[in-house]
Amino acid sequence: MPLEVLQKAQEELINYSSTGCSVMEMSHRSKEYEKIIQAAEQNLRDLMEIPDNYRVLFLQGGASLQFSMIPMNLATREDTVGYVQTGMFASKAKQEADRWCKTVVVGSSKEQNYTFIPEQLEKVDGLKYLHITGNNTIYGTCYNHKVKYGDVPIVADWSSAILGKWFDIKDYALVYAGAQKNMGPAGVTVVIIREDMIREDVDDVVPSMLQYCIHTKGKSMYNTPPTYGIYMIKLMTDWVKQQGGIKELEKINQQKAKLLYDYIDGSEIFHNPVEKKDRSIMNVIFTLDNLEHTEQFIQKCKDNGIINIKGHRSVGGCRASIYNGMPIEGVEKLIEVMKDFAAELIEG
Ligand SMILES: *Cc1c(COP(=O)(O)O)cnc(C)c1O
Repeated sequence: MPLEVLQKAQEELINYSSTGCSVMEMSHRSKEYEKIIQAAEQNLRDLMEIPDNYRVLFLQGGASLQFSMIPMNLATREDTVGYVQTGMFASKAKQEADRWCKTVVVGSSKEQNYTFIPEQLEKVDGLKYLHITGNNTIYGTCYNHKVKYGDVPIVADWSSAILGKWFDIKDYALVYAGAQKNMGPAGVTVVIIREDMIREDVDDVVPSMLQYCIHTKGKSMYNTPPTYGIYMIKLMTDWVKQQGGIKELEKINQQKAKLLYDYIDGSEIFHNPVEKKDRSIMNVIFTLDNLEHTEQFIQKCKDNGIINIKGHRSVGGCRASIYNGMPIEGVEKLIEVMKDFAAELIEG
């Protein structure tokens, strides 16, 4: 999170806006809190240019619960839904849909270790929706192109790039994102759903808490929403507005990523396996030649105050998650450490 956002939260922690209490202590049905959740929603609507025929929900359960809610709400048990396999989260999303209905994989980069985004998708008739993972956090790939699959509604997990990279919400029937990557703390998931996708006749076995129609009717207040997390999204989106909006931040994020990719591409020591057109500007992955060097490098980063550089436990290697909160100086610092490390290795 940007330092200014954390400082604002600190300032308001004990006594929010002269109410005499913390946001954590407020009733979610109070006038004060209503203003906070409405402002969070309005900020998202302004920033992402969300049209009136989309609803914005603040839910719990992480992006992972959406893996289950999406098939249960958008498909019947007899329906077939499509998935593009671009990494671990994409596979998990499909696995949850498998519990509920029929699924087909219409594109996959699994055989090539998820180093690209498949653009030629197999055409299957009658799909209820097509699910994609917009930015693949672990593999450092991203949809930098628009996906069209006939008239089939497109559903996208944009957890790790929302607010950091521009995409047109009108290209999607549903977009979801766990807040903790680029938007706020863990515990809130934002779901943006086009109204015609909200069904009232969801299968009776689906619990109320897992039905979109229940949450849209309750305006995210069917039960107690994750109030403090939503407040943090409000502060974070205020900040994004102050920075000039998503497209302005994306320019900075492009610059940050370019610095790092350019250095890696010219380096003998560090490697990035991702096809250039599909590279993520939020998650830059890189590898070294062996485990020993990787561990030495991660230690060197730690010694220089750079943390969380280790790749996901499922793939190893390194990953720089350069979300909105990471200033360009942080990336420059990382490159300096990489250069030092490379020089030391070459000198032996
Ligand atoms: C982190 C992540 C998830 C999982 O999010 P949770 O909120 O932990 O369930 C899902 N999809 C993507 C793309 C992610 O980066």
